[in-house]
Amino acid sequence: MKTTIKGEIIMSEYNPDYKNLTINIEDYVSKHYEKNDNNCTDNFQCILCGKGIKHTSKHHTIVAGEGIQYVLIHKDEWDYAQSKENTDGGFMGAWDIGSECVRKLKDIPNIKNYIRKPIKERA
Ligand SMILES: [Zn+2]
Repeated sequence: MKTTIKGEIIMSEYNPDYKNLTINIEDYVSKHYEKNDNNCTDNFQCILCGKGIKHTSKHHTIVAGEGIQYVLIHKDEWDYAQSKENTDGGFMGAWDIGSECVRKLKDIPNIKNYIRKPIKERA
């Protein structure tokens, strides 16, 4: 079963069993990623541009699988993905995306179902 849309990489060796399509956002990685990554000293880091995320209020979350942090798993399956039942040997866990980079993804159909908004915290 082909489970990955957007991009050519199909990591069939992991044989995941997700019911929803996964979305590959690797095409959206900034060409400045490496430079930003080298300069980043923050605890949280955006997987698309490599810049630090200083405030947790801007800390969008994705959960990735199939051996690459850019293959997004549908939110309905995050619990499954993190369970022992997950058949995806390439499960990658949770990653962060900054609020500016989230906007670059807005034209991907149903992308909202793959990204958790920042959890509001009391100041
Ligand atoms: Zn970013």
